[in-house]
Amino acid sequence: MRFMSYKSGRKFGIAAQREGQWRGLTEGSSDYPGTLLSLIQAGGEALSKAEAMLADAPTISLEAVEMLPPIANPEKIVCVGLNYRDHSTESGFKQPDFPTIFGRFNSSLIAHGDPMVRPEVSDQLDYEGELVAIIGKTARDVAESDSLDHVIGYSIFNDGSIRDYQFKAPQWTPGKNFDDTGAFGPWFVTAEELPAGCEGLRLTTRLNGQIVQDASISDMVFSVAKLVSILSSFMTLVPGDVIVTGTPSGVGAARKPPLFMRDGDVCEVEIEGIGKLVNPIHDRISSAKSRVA
Ligand code: MG
Repeated sequence: MRFMSYKSGRKFGIAAQREGQWRGLTEGSSDYPGTLLSLIQAGGEALSKAEAMLADAPTISLEAVEMLPPIANPEKIVCVGLNYRDHSTESGFKQPDFPTIFGRFNSSLIAHGDPMVRPEVSDQLDYEGELVAIIGKTARDVAESDSLDHVIGYSIFNDGSIRDYQFKAPQWTPGKNFDDTGAFGPWFVTAEELPAGCEGLRLTTRLNGQIVQDASISDMVFSVAKLVSILSSFMTLVPGDVIVTGTPSGVGAARKPPLFMRDGDVCEVEIEGIGKLVNPIHDRISSAKSRVA
């Protein structure tokens, strides 16, 4: 099953894809099943019931609505750094034997199609294509062998990073939390449609059509199963929590000369079997101007 969160006018909507067509309902409609987060939190058959309810809903055009992050307000967005050996090497780090974990806040999230914004204070906006795993069942002290039962589905992230701010201090939080830098989407795909842990799927990032990252999800040092188990060893993961699993090599900061994103660029992150997350890059000043216009 595939679900997409959107806004039409002032109303929030949810759509499901069937036979290549998106069918959606907005809040206030009699059959509106609720947000994707509320359905995931409801558990059990809530998602399949919602998909059945949406099967007869009107078709919607992606161009005619404002797409939203699949989950706009998760309780937690847990990100993993240095989870591909080649990327750890290119970044000058020894591969850690415990995942490098940092948090993102909802305030940094944008959807498919939204501008990723380069702030006035830095010219070091970098891309990081990543797989997202979404928790469907509360997890605490879960063994690696059981942990995929707690993952309900997957999506895509571009962990837009302001590199000079990331390394101003040992904690990466500022450089990973600028407004309008965390692209999440375009939609949510349930786990049963994909290989276990998305093993073997190809992740490709393109900047202005040129491939800049290309790896297999199997190259991750800490698999989705391992990450859920490790995270659950110290905190309770709850339905709707988002795990952003790390990026492969090829980031702009590691290139000679560095390749940072600029106003007018377009960045795409594609994961086989899930979809393609596309965002234009805007300077903060020009995006403020375009909002006024
Ligand atoms: Mg990252």
